[in-house]
Amino acid sequence: MTIDPNAKMPESLEGTQVYSVDPLIVRSHYEIDYLHSYAQDSEFFRALGQKKIMGSKCKKCGYKYATPRAHCMQCGSETEWFQLPNEGKVHTYTTCYFGSEEFLKETPFHLIMVEFEGVDSLFMARMVGVSAEDLKIGMKVKARFRRNQKFSPTDVYFVPDKE
Ligand SMILES: [Zn+2]
Repeated sequence: MTIDPNAKMPESLEGTQVYSVDPLIVRSHYEIDYLHSYAQDSEFFRALGQKKIMGSKCKKCGYKYATPRAHCMQCGSETEWFQLPNEGKVHTYTTCYFGSEEFLKETPFHLIMVEFEGVDSLFMARMVGVSAEDLKIGMKVKARFRRNQKFSPTDVYFVPDKE
């Protein structure tokens, strides 16, 4: 049994970062492990580990999307998976000098919209192996896949294809 009128809460040696006094704004660290479901997009992320990029094809009108999409934007029908080619060309591009916290350390980096032969929509991905001056619309590109798969959109990226 303990009865101690002099008991104290533990003290911290860390200070508190105060950003404003009125209203009082302080910094506090926040961290969370997030269990993320890819739901109907799961096949797309699993396939990246087998060096395949999966698109969605409308079962009714045949519109081909270069991205996971459960239903067609043209007619509303269900889609089915189909494998995209691993080669395409640059439809357009940008170079990012700023990004979200996860990608900030990788700036500057290139993002491209990939155009695949016979596919009706575009696929956004990272492009490496080319300088900003040499990155061009219409440039032939081919997919590469990270050896250590993260089940992330960046598991696939593109490099220049030999002309
Ligand atoms: Zn459709």
